[in-house]
Amino acid sequence: MRKYPTLPNYPFPIHNSSTCNFNTEVKQCLALASTLGPSNLAYPSNTSYTDSLSSYYSAQQESVHPACILFPRTTSDVSSAIKILAKATTDGICKFAIKSGGHTSWVGSSNIDGGVTLDLQFLNSVEVSGEADATIVKVGPGATWGTIYQKLDPLGLTVAGGRVAGVGVGGLTLGGGISHLSAQHGWTCDTVLNFQVVLSDGSIVDANANQNPDLFFALRGGSNNFGVVTRLDFETFPQGDLWTASLVCSTEVVDSNIREFVNASKAEGYDENASFIMSFAYIGSMGTSIIANTLLYTKPIANPPVYQGFMKLPTIQSSSSFKNMSTSALEADAMVPKGARSLYRTCTVVSTEEMIKAVYRLWTEAADKVKGAKDISWVLSVDPLPPAFYGREAGSNALGLTGREGKALLIVLLDVRWSGEGDDDLITKTARKLFDDVSALVAVVLFYHSSARIMETDIITFYRSRSKQRSSKPMTHSYT
Ligand SMILES: Cc1cc2nc3c(=O)[nH]c(=O)nc-3n(C[C@H](O)[C@H](O)[C@H](O)COP(=O)(O)OP(=O)(O)OC[C@H]3O[C@@H](n4cnc5c(N)ncnc54)[C@H](O)[C@@H]3O)c2cc1C
Repeated sequence: MRKYPTLPNYPFPIHNSSTCNFNTEVKQCLALASTLGPSNLAYPSNTSYTDSLSSYYSAQQESVHPACILFPRTTSDVSSAIKILAKATTDGICKFAIKSGGHTSWVGSSNIDGGVTLDLQFLNSVEVSGEADATIVKVGPGATWGTIYQKLDPLGLTVAGGRVAGVGVGGLTLGGGISHLSAQHGWTCDTVLNFQVVLSDGSIVDANANQNPDLFFALRGGSNNFGVVTRLDFETFPQGDLWTASLVCSTEVVDSNIREFVNASKAEGYDENASFIMSFAYIGSMGTSIIANTLLYTKPIANPPVYQGFMKLPTIQSSSSFKNMSTSALEADAMVPKGARSLYRTCTVVSTEEMIKAVYRLWTEAADKVKGAKDISWVLSVDPLPPAFYGREAGSNALGLTGREGKALLIVLLDVRWSGEGDDDLITKTARKLFDDVSALVAVVLFYHSSARIMETDIITFYRSRSKQRSSKPMTHSYT
């Protein structure tokens, strides 16, 4: 494998969020201002600085204060910035963070205390090129999925991107990416035809099936460990209206909900147009737990056979409608406003009724412990991961899901929102214990994708061991 220059002292803040010393950070900010122009830099007293902080999804990331924030407008700006930031000075090395949509919750993932944050929000172009069935959309990492869908919906096209409008293209794609089209086309990263990347020496390269194919492989799941991605070229797919349904059920019928979920998730005969999630939710303001099933069908067919079992469940509330991808993503976004304290934890397990029942029981026990937290929303979702999805391009990405023998898997995702900093400790410890208990009870499938980014996990070591398993399967896409 070609050796890509690595940034000195691992400047991306996954494991190490210590700050550089005052002299270094001031000098680096001044150097950036002098090379890129002062208007591209923001300091704590500037409105653009506070606006950037308030664009983070979680309150924890919003509360992190970099020495300055850089807003690159072009790939060449990113290249110049990396040349400055990656250069060791006599004062040390300035640590920096890369932010696209700012939707990773934990502190240090895309913001850095006392360092320099590269906010890529202005690298947000969405350019459609090509003709008929060869259409490509070239996107800046700072664009959001909502803006892409708004551009593609009128053309009868879409991409296999995020399900929530405000999430960033950069972070979701580089970490894997689950879309409504995943059973048809794989992870979002599998549908990238080309990445434009700024490497640690400031050079600008393309990574695709023909140019730098090893880097192309590594970026499909490699997150921010290989460079700053400044453009992503996606394959597009024909897409019309979707059918969606929302079914809210009482926890009294949890067993039948779980049965229907497992039936619909079976590996054999998996309906590739189906995209659904079942969530167990304790919402503090309601003082009770509910089950919410979010069903989506990527064709405009109401009540498709795959969902017939779900549609017979007794519900407290239900609705269904046809809509386009933008509306679906915007509606999902409205359910999760920015600014709350937020914690995500996840693991992946084999999909069986017993497994989900066990996870549900542990989640309920844990919910009892956090009920007193202010404005708590304690939600555990199960998201199908059928072989049709993870096996499609398993040898062509760095997610480490080759050789799973066609088993239906599912992603267990704990999504917690609350408002009081004083509850952080309780929630973090309860969430950690819940996942320890799940791991002790059931076999957890280890692999790496964006939602699995947990601070205390040594992702780098884990990633390297997984990437060694790279298969020799040739890439199925070509890029010219
Ligand atoms: C409300 C919500 C909905 C979600 N829905 C989905 C979903 O449907 N499917 C799914 O798969 N995931 C989903 N996620 C998880 C989401 O994909 C990850 O949190 C993702 O990392 C967010 O990307 P971002 O660009 O917004 O985040 P950021 O916090 O900006 O970035 C995330 C990470 O990627 C790195 N990074 C970002 N851009 C670049 C770049 N250009 N070059 C190099 N490194 C970069 C950052 O340094 C950071 O470590 C959701 C999360 C939330 C909060």
